[in-house]
Amino acid sequence: MRCNPRYEILFEPVRIGPVTAPNRFYQTPHATGMGHQKPQSGAALRGIKAEGGWGVVSTEYCSIHPSSDDSPFGFLTLWDEDDVRDLARTADAIHAHGSLAAVELWHGGAHTNNRLTREQLLAPSAQPAKFVQPGGARAMDRQDINDFRRWQRQAAIRARRAGFDIVYCYAGHDYLPFQFLSRRTNRRTDEYGGTLENRVRLLREMIEDTKEAVGDSCAVAVRLAVDELHGPHGITHEGEGRDVVEMLAEVPDLWDVNIAGSLGNDSKSSRFSSEGFQEDYVGFVKRLTTKPVVSVGRFTSPDTMADQIRRGVQDFIGAARPSIADPFLPKKVFEGREDEIRECIGCNICRAANNESVPLRCTQNPTVGEEWRRGWHPEQVDAKRSEARVLVVGAGPAGLECALTLGRRGYGVMLAEAANTLGGRVSREATLPGLGAWARVRDHRLHMLTKQARVEIYPGSRLGAEDVLSLGVDHVVLATGSSWRRDGVGASIEMPVDFPASPSILTPDDIFAGAAVIGPVLVYDDEHYFMGGALAEKLRLAGHKVTIVTPLPVVSSWTQMTDEQFFVQKQLMEVGIDLLLSHSLTSATDGIAEFACAYTGRVTWREFGTLVLVTGRIADQALFDALCATTGSGESFPSITRIGDCLAPSSIADAVHSGHKFARCLDQPTEATMPLRERPFYSTGAKPWNALQHVADPVVPSAKSAASRSALGNS
Ligand code: ADP
Ligand code: SF4
Repeated sequence: MRCNPRYEILFEPVRIGPVTAPNRFYQTPHATGMGHQKPQSGAALRGIKAEGGWGVVSTEYCSIHPSSDDSPFGFLTLWDEDDVRDLARTADAIHAHGSLAAVELWHGGAHTNNRLTREQLLAPSAQPAKFVQPGGARAMDRQDINDFRRWQRQAAIRARRAGFDIVYCYAGHDYLPFQFLSRRTNRRTDEYGGTLENRVRLLREMIEDTKEAVGDSCAVAVRLAVDELHGPHGITHEGEGRDVVEMLAEVPDLWDVNIAGSLGNDSKSSRFSSEGFQEDYVGFVKRLTTKPVVSVGRFTSPDTMADQIRRGVQDFIGAARPSIADPFLPKKVFEGREDEIRECIGCNICRAANNESVPLRCTQNPTVGEEWRRGWHPEQVDAKRSEARVLVVGAGPAGLECALTLGRRGYGVMLAEAANTLGGRVSREATLPGLGAWARVRDHRLHMLTKQARVEIYPGSRLGAEDVLSLGVDHVVLATGSSWRRDGVGASIEMPVDFPASPSILTPDDIFAGAAVIGPVLVYDDEHYFMGGALAEKLRLAGHKVTIVTPLPVVSSWTQMTDEQFFVQKQLMEVGIDLLLSHSLTSATDGIAEFACAYTGRVTWREFGTLVLVTGRIADQALFDALCATTGSGESFPSITRIGDCLAPSSIADAVHSGHKFARCLDQPTEATMPLRERPFYSTGAKPWNALQHVADPVVPSAKSAASRSALGNS
């Protein structure tokens, strides 16, 4: 099937310097939490993107030298020949599907850690380290600048040997070349500081050096933050950001532009930004250059994408998160299946994976990060291995995903849901301020279930143990979810608090069920993800006086992992919510709640009309207990398995993954369901990575011609 003519423009080839992209879908660099320690996982992930139709597939940040070491986060390295060998897997996996492979060469300057290598941090001018840690960066002298230029050239040559087609000069996200650009961080008085012309010098030299090194066969891309959102003291899209593009307009082969004082600005969650949110900042770039331009903006709608191209905003549709949520997005558009796109919900759980130094995970796509270690393909599942019939109880994210994946495998499935509406927690949570896009978790699955003839859905069907057993199925999957606790037990309070039963002490479940709320409202958050802050905001917007109290020093602390915490706290303060930080709830009676300071134990109190407890959750396993009591261990009874929040309350992403895993593993031999682990290998030791040692690069055959390499092999 051919694509809708409206979208044909997205499938035009685009020339980038000496190479040509087969279409306009460009997977921009994004972190994976895998990095140099998980090369097979990384190769498989990128290979799947290429298979899904992304015309350009980029790596994550790839260090050019040990003085740029982001350990323990997942970053790539091109420091030596072992790295060339590892990254050749990625380039090969991308080429296997006819796409171009791009590598984001990176030096972090003062914006990294060097915890592993213990090299000194480098910066244009002496300054404290950007990550809060003792110590700082030293100002680069002339020799350092020469070294840096050499490292970039050497890494570019290695990148070409590994098989990459596009090599980046990375001047974004506050990393070293950007630190030279910005007046905030560049206080030099030599020819690399002062005027903008001087501050641009290093980036210009980098591009020219990289072109000289590999420009005959590789395109040289620049990734530039055109606005660092620091106001007039920094780079702005109306000021020096624009001037930089003007000065270098025709020098690189491609411009990859974004906003970024930090990663949180560039990959803003849907709670704080909408599709295409960067256009106001980056829209000017195409008017200043004839070179192709790419940018991002959480694009998931092919209409918006085609519109971006037609209006001349950019030449490529850049995507990181949309390509994670649906690696097959381009192919679905090409085949006229745009209704099947699994749209990113903008929750930033993918960012959390990198911030926690573990492989990528995604709320919408349970297969991401599992391509190599579990062999999961986003579009393919093994056919059923039996005629077993399965009952799934509960149509929240876990139950919906489980039923859908079982259906795709060909199993006969009954999906029973107590409520008249489907979606479980997602349907409730998507009503919170800014979280409307989260409903896509439900809507995508409900839509795809309409295509599964063997899955029957029964809303309004609360099942008891007898009902379940009367259905005579072979497997029962319980996805009955969880409830918020009423006893105060949360992340920091381990012993239950003796609250009186009172209509003024509520949980989030009560609020969603429509319980009366009387002000003033105290929201006590000892869960620390989105619920406390989002509920407080909802109640404030409803006109109540609201105070949020939390035992930690910041609100919604875990949203630091999703790069949202700053925006959450700012938002709560701006709508007029009072904050009481570092205080634990000790008692609540007669409209008075007492709190103890987390450090001194000193007691303070607040009056409340309503106290909302956002603490722990308890699995809803009454049906499981009843079934176990009825069936004992009799062999004629069905297997009973809990998934999602009913097994262990967690994120929506974990619920989806849990449902998916059950469906993938049903009837599979146990050993086939165990994930592989990547192991450290013995280095060839061919080239030590001593910081200042310059060793000529040996010539090895291009990875493109290394036919013996398997694109997705696991050896
Ligand atoms: P998860 O995140 O694990 O998918 P949710 O809480 O979102 O969990 O969804 C659980 C769903 O299970 C809810 O929609 C709830 O109404 C439903 N449910 C709970 N108990 C029963 C039952 N006995 N019969 C049918 N549905 C049930
Ligand atoms: Fe999008 Fe959330 Fe998946 Fe990230 S985790 S790609 S933000 S759906």
